[in-house]
Amino acid sequence: MSEKIIMLHDLRAPALAVPAAPVTPGGVLVDALSRPLHDLRISVTDRCNFRCVYCMPKEVFGKDYPYLPHSDLLSFEEITRVARIFIAHGVEKIRLTGGEPLLRKNLEHLVAMLRTLPTASGRPLDLTLTTNGSLLARKARALKDAGLDRVTVSLDALDDAVFKRMNDVDFAVADVLAGIDAAHAVGLGPVKVNMVVKRGSNDDQIVPMARHFKDSPTILRFIEYMDVGASNGWNMEEVVPSSEVVERIAAELPLVPVAANYTGETAARWRYLDGGGEIGVISSVTGAFCKDCSRMRLSTEGKLYTCLFATRGHDLRALLRAGHDDLAIGGAIAQLWRGRADRYSETRTADTPSLERGARKVEMSYIGG
Ligand code: SAM
Ligand code: SF4
Ligand code: SF4
Repeated sequence: MSEKIIMLHDLRAPALAVPAAPVTPGGVLVDALSRPLHDLRISVTDRCNFRCVYCMPKEVFGKDYPYLPHSDLLSFEEITRVARIFIAHGVEKIRLTGGEPLLRKNLEHLVAMLRTLPTASGRPLDLTLTTNGSLLARKARALKDAGLDRVTVSLDALDDAVFKRMNDVDFAVADVLAGIDAAHAVGLGPVKVNMVVKRGSNDDQIVPMARHFKDSPTILRFIEYMDVGASNGWNMEEVVPSSEVVERIAAELPLVPVAANYTGETAARWRYLDGGGEIGVISSVTGAFCKDCSRMRLSTEGKLYTCLFATRGHDLRALLRAGHDDLAIGGAIAQLWRGRADRYSETRTADTPSLERGARKVEMSYIGG
């Protein structure tokens, strides 16, 4: 194929409307399908030092890729202000993501600013981060000291050759493992490790990964390869269903199911029969969990997305920079959440990604996982 694809950021985002009547924050907001707003995922950069084949393939995210200029990004002050407004409307969990969030300079300053925010219920804010682990050994201490609770680290293989093919920048497994060890050492645990499974690419790593993290404090979770964005050339044949992941592990290391920790938990949990800890499987494709989805996503440049598979965002930055007060901005957010009816995974079919090519979905590296 000679045609070069240049992906644009979401240029279709209309500014959010401020409702005529103010919406006083009451600590609980429910959407059109009665789902409460509970989690906010904040993408702090659209850049990454990896080129994972399922997320930022090199053919699309090459040298000429038009990343956002710094002035387009929300500042730490803006992010903290938005977080405070969300928290007043019931958010109790914030996850920082990207791109690779640890590439954002002085991220620990943002963590420290978010840490000071009290939740509406008085329960402590759950503040976490998802990272590819490449800079974690260097950053773990500063993140912990700033008040981060936990980290989730992505790692798709134990075998160096397979991992290097997945990250496509020649990054070694040992360096990610060193990041995980550093996170444990400073108290950023329990560390979760996410492995995206792509059939024919890294599915031979399922059992070795399970063996490696068994009998350790790290909780390994297998994620079904998803049709996020428009650049990874997803097809259903490359998805390894969670049921198959569990079968493959259980054939060698017997497993029994564990009850969910809380409603809306995305991972189904299994524990080793011999007491060697647990694993999770996230069936984003074969077992939709939209009915309990309580997440709003904030992009690097301040657009709000009510679903990971949304084709358009809502421009919150325009409101922030137009000088609206917190009550008005909170009202706009409340109105957006109340109108939310997204349930993409429940309605997806194997043909959906090709049917939707005309209405391009945003990239995972832009709104985070
Ligand atoms: N760079 C960080 C990292 O990799 O952890 C944070 C951002 S990344 C977009 C967040 C998560 O999304 C990672 O665990 C990654 O493996 C996952 N992810 C990216 N593309 C995916 C896809 N097509 N299907 C399933 N998970 C995906
Ligand atoms: Fe980067 Fe994370 Fe996407 Fe991999 S999954 S390319 S590490 S943003
Ligand atoms: Fe939530 Fe959308 Fe994923 Fe369903 S498809 S679980 S609504 S993000």
